[in-house]
Formats: sequence, structure tokens, C-alpha cells
Amino acid sequence: MRASQFHLSTTRETPNDAEIVSHQLMLRAGLIRRLGSGLYTWMPLGLKVLRKIENIIREEMDRAGALEMLMPAVQPAELWEESGRWGKFGPELLRLTDRHNREYCVGPTHEEVITDIARRDLKSYKQLPLNFYQIQTKFRDEIRPRFGVMRSREFIMKDAYSFGIDAASLQESFDAMHIAYCAIFDRMGLDYRAVEADSGSIGGAQSREFHVLADSGEDAVVYATEGDYAANMEKAEAVCNDPRGEASLPMQTIDTPNVHTIDELAASLKVDATQCLKTLLVKGSDEKVPVVALLLRGDHQLNEVKAEHLPEVASPLTMADAELIRSTVQCDAGSIGPVGLNIPVIADANAACMSDFICGANTNAQHLTGVNWTRDLPEPIVRDIRNVIEGDANPKGNGILKIVRGIEVGHIFQLGDTYSKALDATVLDENGKPATLMMGCYGIGVTRVAAAAIEQNNDSAGIIWPLSIAPFEAVVCPVNMVKSDAVKEAAEKLYTELKDAGVDVLFDDRPLRPGAMFSDMELIGIPHRFVVSDKLLANNEIEYRGRSDSEASIIARDEVLAKII
Ligand code: ATP
Ligand code: MG
Repeated sequence: MRASQFHLSTTRETPNDAEIVSHQLMLRAGLIRRLGSGLYTWMPLGLKVLRKIENIIREEMDRAGALEMLMPAVQPAELWEESGRWGKFGPELLRLTDRHNREYCVGPTHEEVITDIARRDLKSYKQLPLNFYQIQTKFRDEIRPRFGVMRSREFIMKDAYSFGIDAASLQESFDAMHIAYCAIFDRMGLDYRAVEADSGSIGGAQSREFHVLADSGEDAVVYATEGDYAANMEKAEAVCNDPRGEASLPMQTIDTPNVHTIDELAASLKVDATQCLKTLLVKGSDEKVPVVALLLRGDHQLNEVKAEHLPEVASPLTMADAELIRSTVQCDAGSIGPVGLNIPVIADANAACMSDFICGANTNAQHLTGVNWTRDLPEPIVRDIRNVIEGDANPKGNGILKIVRGIEVGHIFQLGDTYSKALDATVLDENGKPATLMMGCYGIGVTRVAAAAIEQNNDSAGIIWPLSIAPFEAVVCPVNMVKSDAVKEAAEKLYTELKDAGVDVLFDDRPLRPGAMFSDMELIGIPHRFVVSDKLLANNEIEYRGRSDSEASIIARDEVLAKII
């Protein structure tokens, strides 16, 4: 491709509405243009990246035996009513009405549509297992679209859905997708981790997220320093191996005026937050048990996903409001404690191993010190309800937990029979009896991958594309071509040679000074740069620079192909 015929549209200025580096660089390099909130156009240069990402995904999905198809973006409401999601999905679902007053949505995902296909098309276990996928536009009316295509409203997803006769078959499809995803992200040259994720209310089901590691990532990724345990923050198991200390202090009531938070409590008593117990009241799952107390060590945070999975706790998790707190404990939120409570008391393991601790006295402006389990209050129910913190023990072996930031680029999930049951998707099994299909779903945020790759690979000059997804693999930069026929001829020849060798090469034939040309190519992030000049030609040489090399080097003209192939 000749740069003069390709619409390159770069800018030096950092757009002031772009907060993270990938968004800034995508705009500055002219990969995308904003149309409206969460809506982006992929310009020719950006689309080249997107297509390369798609092709890698397509090749690996095909290799794993998945079959490509294409479903409509617009989906009838009736299907969503059958699955029960029309009422549940909330404002992220973009709903529309047609001229006949029929309701539709723009698909945020396609479980309903694919399950409808399966129930119509699949008759026998002999047709299984099957895995269908598509690469298609989704719409989610995100509450806070941000970071460009990282969290947009319209975006492209690869979504796959597997169908098997039983749990073992589902596990096989799931494992095959795990392997395919690793191959996909390996080929894209990304530093990523596959982590355990929460699988919601589906018991025993597996769920894994694939995260590209980057400081700006929205998600916390937890991993063990020894062994291969890794999970997202929602799922990472918190364990406590410390023994409970002996009770050594008497329980005492003390006045704590103006103390409303753990920090204020610790500061006023000159103790560490780890000696204070935090008591949170949440709504219970049952009318008979309207309130449940959740206890954490003062420095720990509640994990809402874990909490809402507890059978005693209402889902979605709802914190008790001031009125409910007052009617339960006769004090305000800052003074609640577990002593004398006659509601279920659920403590995190670390909270349950505290001794001589400090907690609210259930009277405003008062706290208790020297509190001990068994002696002063009954043993609590112990459950994992907190977020892990760095340094926690590895729940699956030796070593400790570390936390890094990640960008979720993919998700594989065992749906089981949730949708097939709701939509009555069955096939006849070996005995001729109807069996409900076991499903898995497997997503990759295709557009988000492009942003995540940049977030992980950039420097002050611009993007550093991994070779496999770079818009161009190489660029030929002639110096002063307008003045030198020899340079023009040599550059044209090099360009043709690279093209013939199958290299996706850009020929920067624009009448630009070398400095401007080089900085454009660095901003765009082309992996290999070859410079042709009169001076170099005299010695039959070429200047070469890899995008992340600290400096350029001079190579012999006939070494060019060896540099990249
Ligand atoms: P997130 O937690 O980031 O909202 P999700 O759990 O809603 O993601 P899935 O429903 O599993 O995402 O969708 C599959 C993939 O689609 C995600 O792993 C992500 O890469 C991508 N994706 C989801 N929402 C968006 C969005 N608003 N913009 C771009 N990509 C997205
Ligand atoms: Mg989401």
C-alpha cells in the first residue's frame, strides 16, 4: 500500500477527552473516530488491525472445530421473554419497537437466538457435539461508556456457543475453547492470564476470564506466587491460616464520640484497623430473617458477589438503610457490633480468628474493647465474604497472593442447561428419550483486544504493535525521494520485493521530511522500518529499525528480507 493513496490521518495533539493511553493513541494514529457516546468508526488503518485480530480468532476457532455463522443483530422480544431476560436485563438492553408495534432489542449477546436455532435444528445426540460462532456487532447501553472502544456501547464480539449431550461433553468443549483462547492470545503476542471467575448461581459450572495485563485495567487479577492459581477479584478465595489468639483482656464499654468509621475508631484509640471488627447489615433472603450481619476485619473489604451467593443473604446484595439499621440495632451504622445481636452473624475467617477485638456497642458513640468469641458472644457462621488483599495465603498451595490490573478480553463459561431448559431445547439421546442440551458460551471482545494490545504495548512515541496484528508489518521510508530518482527507484524496488515476499508493507511515498515521516510511522506503530537514502545507496545499504529497538542499524541491502521473514 502506498501512503499517498491510503488515508493516514495522524495528529500530534493529545485529545483532551481521552483518559487512557490506548484511547489517546487510537485517536492520534487515526485508527478510530468518535461518532457519539460509545460509538466509533473504524478508519481504514484501524480496520486493518481489526481484520487481523478477527482472522487469528477465526483460524483458531476453525481449528478447534467451531463453525462460523452469522445471526441477526436485532432480536425479537418474545425470545427474551421465554428466557426470562426481557424483564431482568435492565437498561443495558437497547429496546425498539417496529412499525407493527412489535418489540425487539439490539442483541447484547446471543444465547436466546442460538438456543432457538438449536431447538429447531438439532434432533439427535448423533449431531453433537457442536460449537457455533460468529463475529458480530453487539450493543450494550453501558451506564458509563469510556476509554474509547475499550468500553463502548456498540462493539464487535466473537461469540461462540457449544451444545453437548451431557456435562462431560460440555467440559470437553470448554477445555477445547480454553486451549483455542490461549492460542489466539499467544498469536497476538499479548501478555495475558486465564483466571477463574465467578459462575453465578450455576453450581459446579466453570468460568474463566482472559485478561490482558495492563496498569490501566479495570479489573483486579489475583495470582499466586507459587503454583498456577489465578482468579479475578470476585472469585479469588480468601483463607486464614492464623490461629485465634487467647483472650487476655476483659470486655469493656468505652465512649467514642464522633467515631463513625473504622479509620476514625483506629485513630481515636491509637490501634491498628486489624484490631477492629467491621459489622455490616444487609437484607436477608427470607422474610423471617430480614437482616443479616456480615463481619470483617477492619482493614478488609466486603466482596459483594461472594456475599450475595450466601443462602441467608438477599440477591442482589442490598445494604440495610438507616431505618432498617435503627429498627434492628437501635443505633447508627458506625456503632454496630455483633455482641448481643439476635440475627444471623456471618464472619469472614479472619474476623472469626480475632481476639481481644474492638467493635461497635450497638449504642451510638460507644464501642466495646477486649471482645472475644465464645466468652462474650457466640461463635459466628464462618464464610468467605471478603476481597483478598496482597500477601494473603495462596488458597491452593504455597506462596502468597499478588494483585495486578487486567483488561478482560475474553470469557469462557459453562452455561449448563439454563437457556436450553427455558427454551426447551432437547435432542433424543441414545435411548430415544429427550435430553436437554448442555451449553457453553465463549466470548472475545474483538474491538477491545485492539485497545488492550495498545494499552500493553506503547511508548512515548506511540503504539508498538505486536507483529501479527500490526496494521502494516513494515514500512519503506525514502529520504528526499522528490529530489532523487535513484532513491525513488530503489525504494520502489524494495517495496515490490517486500510485497512479493508476502509482507504487508506500506510505502511512505508522501512528500514529507524524514523526521515527520518517522514520527508518523512510530505513532502508528509499524514493527519494521526500512530507510532508503542516497548516502546509503552509495554503499548498497539500508537503514533498519525495529519499532522497539533503541536505535537504528545499517544493514546490507540483501539482508532486508532476512530481517523480517
Ligand atoms: P465487562 O465486565 O467488561 O463488562 P462482560 O462480563 O459484560 O464484560 P461478556 O458478556 O462476557 O462481558 O462479553 C464477552 C466479552 O466482550 C468481554 O470479555 C469483553 O472483552 C467484551 N465486552 C463486553 N462489554 C464490552 C463493551 N462495552 N465494549 C467492548 N467490549 C466489551
Ligand atoms: Mg458488562
